[in-house]
Amino acid sequence: MTTKNVLAVGAHADDVEIGCGGTVARHVTNGDFVIMLVMTKPWYTYYDGTVLRTIEEGTIEEQKAAKVLGVKSINLGFETKKVPYSGESVEAINEVIDKYNIDSIYTHWYHDSHQDHRRTTQSVLSAGRYVKNILMYEPEYPAGRSYSGFHNQYYVDITSSFEMKMEALKQHKSQIKKYGTDFVGAVEARARHRGYEIRSKYAECFEVLRLLGEI
Ligand SMILES: [Zn+2]
Repeated sequence: MTTKNVLAVGAHADDVEIGCGGTVARHVTNGDFVIMLVMTKPWYTYYDGTVLRTIEEGTIEEQKAAKVLGVKSINLGFETKKVPYSGESVEAINEVIDKYNIDSIYTHWYHDSHQDHRRTTQSVLSAGRYVKNILMYEPEYPAGRSYSGFHNQYYVDITSSFEMKMEALKQHKSQIKKYGTDFVGAVEARARHRGYEIRSKYAECFEVLRLLGEI
Protein backbone atom coordinates (compact mmCIF):
# COMPACT_ATOMS: atom_id res chain seq x y z
CA MET A 1 0.00 0.00 0.00
CA THR A 2 1.43 3.35 -1.01
CA THR A 3 1.25 6.28 1.37
CA LYS A 4 -0.96 9.22 0.55
CA ASN A 5 -0.82 12.99 0.82
CA VAL A 6 -3.89 14.22 2.62
CA LEU A 7 -5.27 17.72 3.12
CA ALA A 8 -7.74 18.34 5.95
CA VAL A 9 -9.29 21.79 5.63
CA GLY A 10 -11.16 23.81 8.24
CA ALA A 11 -12.27 27.43 8.27
CA HIS A 12 -11.32 27.77 11.95
CA ALA A 13 -8.90 26.15 14.35
CA ASP A 14 -10.78 23.17 15.86
CA ASP A 15 -13.05 22.47 12.83
CA VAL A 16 -10.83 19.66 11.53
CA GLU A 17 -10.59 18.05 14.97
CA ILE A 18 -14.38 18.06 15.33
CA GLY A 19 -15.19 16.99 11.77
CA CYS A 20 -12.49 14.50 10.89
CA GLY A 21 -9.86 14.38 13.65
CA GLY A 22 -10.13 10.61 14.04
CA THR A 23 -9.80 10.02 10.31
CA VAL A 24 -6.78 12.34 10.19
CA ALA A 25 -5.11 10.50 13.09
CA ARG A 26 -5.73 7.20 11.30
CA HIS A 27 -4.05 8.51 8.16
CA VAL A 28 -1.01 9.55 10.21
CA THR A 29 -0.84 6.14 11.91
CA ASN A 30 -0.95 4.50 8.47
CA GLY A 31 2.10 6.54 7.42
CA ASP A 32 0.28 9.10 5.27
CA PHE A 33 1.40 12.73 5.19
CA VAL A 34 -1.35 15.01 6.45
CA ILE A 35 -1.66 18.79 6.32
CA MET A 36 -4.19 20.56 8.51
CA LEU A 37 -5.07 23.73 6.65
CA VAL A 38 -6.87 26.43 8.65
CA MET A 39 -8.32 29.30 6.63
CA THR A 40 -8.52 31.99 9.33
CA LYS A 41 -6.34 33.64 11.92
CA PRO A 42 -7.35 31.97 15.16
CA TRP A 43 -8.96 34.92 16.95
CA TYR A 44 -12.61 35.42 17.59
CA THR A 45 -14.73 38.32 18.82
CA TYR A 46 -18.44 38.82 19.34
CA TYR A 47 -20.26 41.45 17.28
CA ASP A 48 -20.09 43.71 20.38
CA GLY A 49 -16.29 43.43 20.38
CA THR A 50 -15.96 40.98 23.28
CA VAL A 51 -12.83 38.90 22.66
CA LEU A 52 -13.56 35.18 22.91
CA ARG A 53 -10.13 34.00 21.81
CA THR A 54 -7.00 36.07 21.29
CA ILE A 55 -4.69 35.32 18.37
CA GLU A 56 -1.92 34.19 20.76
CA GLU A 57 -4.25 31.82 22.60
CA GLY A 58 -5.67 30.48 19.34
CA THR A 59 -2.26 29.94 17.73
CA ILE A 60 -1.00 27.94 20.70
CA GLU A 61 -4.16 25.79 20.73
CA GLU A 62 -3.96 25.21 16.98
CA GLN A 63 -0.30 24.13 17.20
CA LYS A 64 -0.83 21.88 20.20
CA ALA A 65 -3.72 20.10 18.48
CA ALA A 66 -1.65 19.62 15.31
CA LYS A 67 1.11 18.09 17.42
CA VAL A 68 -1.31 15.64 19.06
CA LEU A 69 -2.54 14.54 15.63
CA GLY A 70 0.94 14.44 14.11
CA VAL A 71 0.10 16.72 11.18
CA LYS A 72 1.72 19.69 9.50
CA SER A 73 -0.24 22.83 10.28
CA ILE A 74 -0.73 25.68 7.79
CA ASN A 75 -2.77 28.81 8.48
CA LEU A 76 -3.84 30.97 5.53
CA GLY A 77 -4.58 34.02 7.69
CA PHE A 78 -7.98 35.14 6.38
CA GLU A 79 -10.26 37.14 8.70
CA THR A 80 -12.60 35.11 10.90
CA LYS A 81 -16.23 35.47 9.71
CA LYS A 82 -14.98 36.91 6.40
CA VAL A 83 -13.47 33.92 4.58
CA PRO A 84 -13.81 34.77 0.88
CA TYR A 85 -14.70 32.63 -2.07
CA SER A 86 -12.34 34.44 -4.39
CA GLY A 87 -9.33 34.11 -6.62
CA GLU A 88 -7.18 34.72 -3.57
CA SER A 89 -8.68 31.92 -1.45
CA VAL A 90 -8.75 29.48 -4.37
CA GLU A 91 -5.13 30.16 -5.33
CA ALA A 92 -3.91 29.91 -1.74
CA ILE A 93 -5.43 26.42 -1.44
CA ASN A 94 -4.33 25.51 -4.96
CA GLU A 95 -0.74 26.30 -4.07
CA VAL A 96 -0.84 23.89 -1.11
CA ILE A 97 -2.45 21.17 -3.25
CA ASP A 98 0.24 21.48 -5.93
CA LYS A 99 3.17 21.84 -3.56
CA TYR A 100 2.29 18.72 -1.58
CA ASN A 101 0.80 16.67 -4.41
CA ILE A 102 -2.46 16.10 -2.55
CA ASP A 103 -4.43 12.89 -3.18
CA SER A 104 -7.40 13.40 -0.87
CA ILE A 105 -9.15 16.36 0.76
CA TYR A 106 -11.49 16.52 3.74
CA THR A 107 -13.52 19.70 4.05
CA HIS A 108 -16.71 21.22 5.47
CA TRP A 109 -20.14 20.17 4.34
CA TYR A 110 -21.24 22.34 1.42
CA HIS A 111 -24.52 23.36 3.12
CA ASP A 112 -23.12 24.10 6.57
CA SER A 113 -24.82 27.20 8.02
CA HIS A 114 -21.61 29.13 8.80
CA GLN A 115 -20.56 31.42 5.97
CA ASP A 116 -16.85 30.70 6.58
CA HIS A 117 -17.45 26.94 6.35
CA ARG A 118 -19.41 27.26 3.13
CA ARG A 119 -16.95 29.55 1.40
CA THR A 120 -14.09 27.34 2.47
CA THR A 121 -15.64 24.41 0.67
CA GLN A 122 -16.50 26.50 -2.38
CA SER A 123 -12.84 27.49 -2.54
CA VAL A 124 -11.71 23.88 -1.99
CA LEU A 125 -13.93 22.70 -4.85
CA SER A 126 -12.43 25.18 -7.27
CA ALA A 127 -8.85 24.63 -6.10
CA GLY A 128 -9.23 20.86 -5.93
CA ARG A 129 -10.61 20.32 -9.40
CA TYR A 130 -7.94 17.71 -10.21
CA VAL A 131 -7.75 16.06 -6.77
CA LYS A 132 -8.98 12.47 -6.83
CA ASN A 133 -10.95 12.38 -3.60
CA ILE A 134 -12.94 15.10 -1.84
CA LEU A 135 -15.03 14.17 1.18
CA MET A 136 -17.12 16.52 3.30
CA TYR A 137 -17.41 16.00 7.04
CA GLU A 138 -20.64 16.54 8.93
CA PRO A 139 -22.17 19.97 9.71
CA GLU A 140 -19.87 21.51 12.26
CA TYR A 141 -20.61 21.55 15.97
CA PRO A 142 -21.95 23.65 17.55
CA ALA A 143 -22.95 26.26 14.95
CA GLY A 144 -23.49 24.25 11.80
CA ARG A 145 -27.07 23.08 12.24
CA SER A 146 -28.70 23.12 8.86
CA TYR A 147 -32.07 22.27 7.39
CA SER A 148 -30.92 20.47 4.31
CA GLY A 149 -29.97 16.83 4.62
CA PHE A 150 -26.42 15.60 5.07
CA HIS A 151 -25.87 12.37 3.15
CA ASN A 152 -24.06 9.87 5.36
CA GLN A 153 -22.32 8.06 2.50
CA TYR A 154 -18.81 7.19 3.61
CA TYR A 155 -17.78 5.94 7.05
CA VAL A 156 -14.37 5.66 8.66
CA ASP A 157 -13.97 3.45 11.73
CA ILE A 158 -12.07 5.64 14.19
CA THR A 159 -12.14 3.30 17.17
CA SER A 160 -8.33 3.09 17.16
CA SER A 161 -7.84 6.87 16.86
CA PHE A 162 -10.78 8.18 18.85
CA GLU A 163 -8.65 9.09 21.89
CA MET A 164 -6.32 11.13 19.70
CA LYS A 165 -9.25 12.99 18.18
CA MET A 166 -10.60 13.90 21.61
CA GLU A 167 -7.14 14.78 22.95
CA ALA A 168 -6.60 17.12 19.98
CA LEU A 169 -10.00 18.72 20.47
CA LYS A 170 -9.32 19.29 24.16
CA GLN A 171 -6.31 21.44 23.25
CA HIS A 172 -8.85 24.10 22.23
CA LYS A 173 -9.42 25.18 25.80
CA SER A 174 -10.86 28.57 24.82
CA GLN A 175 -13.56 26.85 22.75
CA ILE A 176 -14.47 24.48 25.54
CA LYS A 177 -14.67 27.45 27.90
CA LYS A 178 -16.96 29.17 25.40
CA TYR A 179 -19.27 26.23 24.65
CA GLY A 180 -18.95 24.14 27.82
CA THR A 181 -18.10 20.49 28.31
CA ASP A 182 -21.41 19.41 26.74
CA PHE A 183 -19.81 20.45 23.47
CA VAL A 184 -17.09 17.82 23.95
CA GLY A 185 -19.77 15.32 24.98
CA ALA A 186 -21.72 16.00 21.78
CA VAL A 187 -18.65 15.37 19.60
CA GLU A 188 -18.12 12.10 21.45
CA ALA A 189 -21.81 11.15 21.13
CA ARG A 190 -21.79 11.77 17.39
CA ALA A 191 -18.74 9.52 16.96
CA ARG A 192 -20.48 6.84 19.02
CA HIS A 193 -23.68 7.20 16.98
CA ARG A 194 -21.84 6.91 13.67
CA GLY A 195 -19.86 3.99 15.05
CA TYR A 196 -23.02 2.14 16.01
CA GLU A 197 -24.34 2.56 12.46
CA ILE A 198 -21.40 0.55 11.12
CA ARG A 199 -21.17 -1.79 14.12
CA SER A 200 -17.96 -0.34 15.45
CA LYS A 201 -17.30 1.62 18.61
CA TYR A 202 -16.58 5.01 17.04
CA ALA A 203 -16.76 6.38 13.50
CA GLU A 204 -16.74 9.56 11.44
CA CYS A 205 -19.05 10.03 8.53
CA PHE A 206 -18.67 11.89 5.24
CA GLU A 207 -20.64 13.00 2.21
CA VAL A 208 -18.79 12.29 -1.02
CA LEU A 209 -18.03 15.04 -3.48
CA ARG A 210 -15.60 12.96 -5.49
CA LEU A 211 -14.17 9.50 -4.97
CA LEU A 212 -11.93 8.45 -7.84
CA GLY A 213 -8.98 6.88 -6.07
CA GLU A 214 -7.87 4.91 -3.07
CA ILE A 215 -8.16 6.81 0.20
ZN1 LIG B 1 -15.69 26.68 12.19
